[in-house]
Amino acid sequence: MERGFDVGIRIKLVNAVRRLYLRGFNSTFSGNVSVRSSYKNHFWITPRAYDKASLTIEDLSLVDITTGNRIMGAEPSSEYKVHLEIYRARDDVNAVIHTHQVYTMVAYKAGLLKRELLEDSYEAKAYLGGISHVPRLEPGSWDLAKAVSQQLADKKNVAVIMDGHGVVLIGGSIDEALNRAEILEMEAMRLVNLALLGVIRIDRAQGWG
Ligand SMILES: [Zn+2]
Repeated sequence: MERGFDVGIRIKLVNAVRRLYLRGFNSTFSGNVSVRSSYKNHFWITPRAYDKASLTIEDLSLVDITTGNRIMGAEPSSEYKVHLEIYRARDDVNAVIHTHQVYTMVAYKAGLLKRELLEDSYEAKAYLGGISHVPRLEPGSWDLAKAVSQQLADKKNVAVIMDGHGVVLIGGSIDEALNRAEILEMEAMRLVNLALLGVIRIDRAQGWG
């Protein structure tokens, strides 16, 4: 593998990170994004504790999916295990996004991320699949990585809410994963506002469905 490969893929990854940061989906250091390499058994991921405004394609880490080892670049995000386990579970997934998108987390806590409420929207129906969730687990742990990838092994699911933490979304491409993050946040915003206006009822039972 020579230095200049996957340039297009890495540029898309860096752009996705900036877009998520500028939309307020992540803070300067939080959140992470990965994309499968053209060497299919590898993925590129954002490095640990990086400033999203100044990230370049040279800063990304390349990780081997079989061994879990870093092949190239900076030390990967502390959440790389979540990405790794998802790529191991799903060979049709080519991008993984982890955000701290606020309205989605609020809607989840309020029990608003329900299929019947989300599917009231044509956008959600068209672009989102199942939204699953996992309990509060230590960030960076294998327990969290296994729990999230287990939920996403079910092919109807496209996103997992990590209780007390944030969201993991997958896509066949980085654009698909980004679009899902945005649609989910827009729908969550809609539902939270409808609940505040008293149009829909807040039900404390958490989760989707
Ligand atoms: Zn996080």
